[in-house]
Amino acid sequence: MSTSVSLVWFRNDLRTHDHEPLLRAAKAGPLVAVYCLDPRVYARSSLGMSRIAPQRARFLVESVAALRAELRALGGDLIVRRGAPEEILPALAAEIGARALYFHREAGTEERAVEDALARTPLALHAFDGASLLHPDDLPFEMHDLPDLFTRFRTWVEKQSVRPRDVLPAPDRLRTPVFDPGELPTLEEFGFTPPTHDPRATLVFVGGSTAGRARLQHYIWDADRLRTYKETRNGMLGPDDSSRLSPWLALGCLSPREVCAEVQRYERERVRNDSTYWLFFELLWRDYFHFVSAKYGAKLFRVGGLRDLRLPWRRPDRDAAARRDFDAWCEGCTGFPLVDANMRELRATGFMSNRGRQNVASFLTKNLGIDWRFGAAWFEAQLIDYDAASNYGNWCYTAGVGNDTRAYRFFNIYKQSEDYDPHGDYVRHWLPELRGLRGARAHRPDLLTLEECRRDGVAYPEPLVDLFESARANEAAYRRAAELR
Ligand SMILES: Cc1cc2nc3c(=O)[nH]c(=O)nc-3n(C[C@H](O)[C@H](O)[C@H](O)COP(=O)(O)OP(=O)(O)OC[C@H]3O[C@@H](n4cnc5c(N)ncnc54)[C@H](O)[C@@H]3O)c2cc1C
Repeated sequence: MSTSVSLVWFRNDLRTHDHEPLLRAAKAGPLVAVYCLDPRVYARSSLGMSRIAPQRARFLVESVAALRAELRALGGDLIVRRGAPEEILPALAAEIGARALYFHREAGTEERAVEDALARTPLALHAFDGASLLHPDDLPFEMHDLPDLFTRFRTWVEKQSVRPRDVLPAPDRLRTPVFDPGELPTLEEFGFTPPTHDPRATLVFVGGSTAGRARLQHYIWDADRLRTYKETRNGMLGPDDSSRLSPWLALGCLSPREVCAEVQRYERERVRNDSTYWLFFELLWRDYFHFVSAKYGAKLFRVGGLRDLRLPWRRPDRDAAARRDFDAWCEGCTGFPLVDANMRELRATGFMSNRGRQNVASFLTKNLGIDWRFGAAWFEAQLIDYDAASNYGNWCYTAGVGNDTRAYRFFNIYKQSEDYDPHGDYVRHWLPELRGLRGARAHRPDLLTLEECRRDGVAYPEPLVDLFESARANEAAYRRAAELR
């Protein structure tokens, strides 16, 4: 086999377009594209929790299979191997006489540890940045000077007119030596049977670039929903309330640059308004958390977060009452319909709206006082759009140990229910126990008398805590910890 063969390592960038490592390697000569299913990433976490649940595994399996099909259509293939990339890739390179390894850098600490290990092998590394909308080299500051406030970051990049780089095309053709491609990942090897489709799911997420692009086309052009994104994005029930592109962005089936390019084309061809800007704004949040992860490394995953705050969190692995409350939260049985409906949607579909995520995360940390890392770990396993930086960044932020320097804030679940589900449609959709309650009454089953419960067929758990008392108690503990710093 020719020594000019190189390896292209696919990670959370499961696409052939806008993929600089693939394009560069293809220009350099023949290549072997590899995906490593690393058991460490899916094993139990240090908190003893599973790291992948059936929906997330399904979306991953579909996305890897779709990538293989895409590469084959270009004349290439995707080699799938099981094990640690830092062992598999050098061994594969030795077997085929490859010296160069092309790949995208990633922001997470585990991912960077693998890159460091690869740097100690004889492979010549060609690493590129392709996970964010803005290229890190184009930022008007060094990563260690990244502002600790999102607003400052945004203002800075906007003032300096930092623009996304152009979207790169897929290679025209790939030259790949004939090679044993290996078996695609299966749900069975994760220990799952294919999850059944829940008829209440309002959108079916299918992994892979083709499905991702179809979603982009539908949301922006066919349904024309970008026009009103800013007004509808907080909706929880409608499939087109927000773009719902996050699963494809998280696995890299879509690149943030191509989403942005499509938004810009829409602005030229249809309308430019607050909504079109707002989608760009949200993509900047995504970038921001990726850069925060690059700046803070392991801190993002530690209990004290970015601020080293030592709070007296309750730990489900050490305290039976905390375990009971945490399980109730995971199962969607807290007695707070807005929280429960969102948690059941997550379990059933692998997705939850941003509004839902903020509420359930606030409830877990600011009302139940449970260590935020347990919530983040539950999300990690369940979310089909799990992205280490976005997940842990948002959890830190909501738990009060991240980039939010405003005074202690908690979500008033009752008020949020009124504002974002005024007629109770969302909670009734996910909570069959409350179907007998009309309108906003569905949000307060705790106010019903026994007689009303019998009459309306309501069998619903009592609230785990008093919303305001629990928030006050947690706030007091938070303030003490902040003063002790
Ligand atoms: C506790 C918590 C955990 C989260 N975990 C994740 C996660 O693991 N993966 C993930 O992609 N998002 C995460 N988010 C952010 C956000 O909830 C989702 O990105 C969003 O709900 C996805 O829906 P959408 O694609 O319709 O978003 P849209 O509103 O259409 O936004 C467009 C895109 O912008 C990005 N985006 C929007 N809001 C955020 C945000 N707050 N942070 C980072 N990126 C954002 C996403 O890529 C999204 O697809 C989390 C938020 C919270 C509060």
